[in-house]
Amino acid sequence: MEIDQAKRATKRSIWNHHPDLPIQNSPLFSWPPKPIRAAKWLVRRWVDITATLLFTFVAIGFYLFLQPAPETMKTLAPGWIATIYVRNLLFLTTVAGGLHLYLFTLKRQGKNLKYDAREMMVNNGTFTFRNQVYDNMFWSLAGGVTAWTFLEVLYFWGAANGYATTLTFAEAPVWFFVSLLLLPIWASMHFYWVHRFLHWPPMYKRVHALHHRNVNVGPWSGLSMHPVESVIYLSSVLIHFVVPTHPVIFLLHMYIKAVGPAFSHAGFEKVLVNDKRLTDAGDFHHQLHHRFFECNYGTADMPWDKWFGSFHDGTDEAGTRIKERRRKMYQS
Ligand SMILES: [Zn+2]
Ligand SMILES: [Zn+2]
Repeated sequence: MEIDQAKRATKRSIWNHHPDLPIQNSPLFSWPPKPIRAAKWLVRRWVDITATLLFTFVAIGFYLFLQPAPETMKTLAPGWIATIYVRNLLFLTTVAGGLHLYLFTLKRQGKNLKYDAREMMVNNGTFTFRNQVYDNMFWSLAGGVTAWTFLEVLYFWGAANGYATTLTFAEAPVWFFVSLLLLPIWASMHFYWVHRFLHWPPMYKRVHALHHRNVNVGPWSGLSMHPVESVIYLSSVLIHFVVPTHPVIFLLHMYIKAVGPAFSHAGFEKVLVNDKRLTDAGDFHHQLHHRFFECNYGTADMPWDKWFGSFHDGTDEAGTRIKERRRKMYQS
């Protein structure tokens, strides 16, 4: 009995901090239904999570003040494409760079709420430039922002030429808000399936392994991907070619996918200022994926992992089950 407890204590100590366990999936899909908890989850996503609010304001701000005219975007030309590229580059650099500076360089909250106590790796041959942060910055900025800009240009060019239908707020005010609520659910489903595809051994070896260099993660790890993965991962926004929305919804979708990972990979559960929460940041669900690989391919917004037996809820029991799952996978 004592040995068992000691073993558990050792296992638990791999985390400097973790949320209450087991971690939960969205109650939206609970059976029997839990409407009040589900409504709270949805409201919290849009009202309480500062990152989502930030993305909403930036999407509206960029659309109102930094958006090239539809007439200009009818033709692919370096000028307006550069505008979009630069605004994306600055946006990611501000968010990921700001979080990195605050949490890792200046260490403003020490290890408080940090999941993994270890620092970012230096002098390690796994990483480009033998340095985890430089590696992550390079792949995020050179690959990630380029793929992001490519898809954004594709959409706005498509919309300007009538290949994608856009709606004004006045045309569909209710749909504007409904599409906001559906966005995380669609993104979660898309992520689960493309992520499973990326874990298919030939794709994993050639493409996805680059993102998985990061067993421990930091803000710059979020969009640090092989360019092929960046396009596949961000392709969730292509739904706006099929389902008409306001262009701000498209931008918001893109920012959740492209800048959101700077928060979800921050490695800290929350960002604290004078011990008070400024924003939620890290996503322990995904942190577990980086640590144990063959689990939690999706997000907590939709319980695909639960349905397909790959859910790691952070407990020792789930850890043992996932280990067994990995052993079987590598055997076959
Ligand atoms: Zn990741
Ligand atoms: Zn993965």
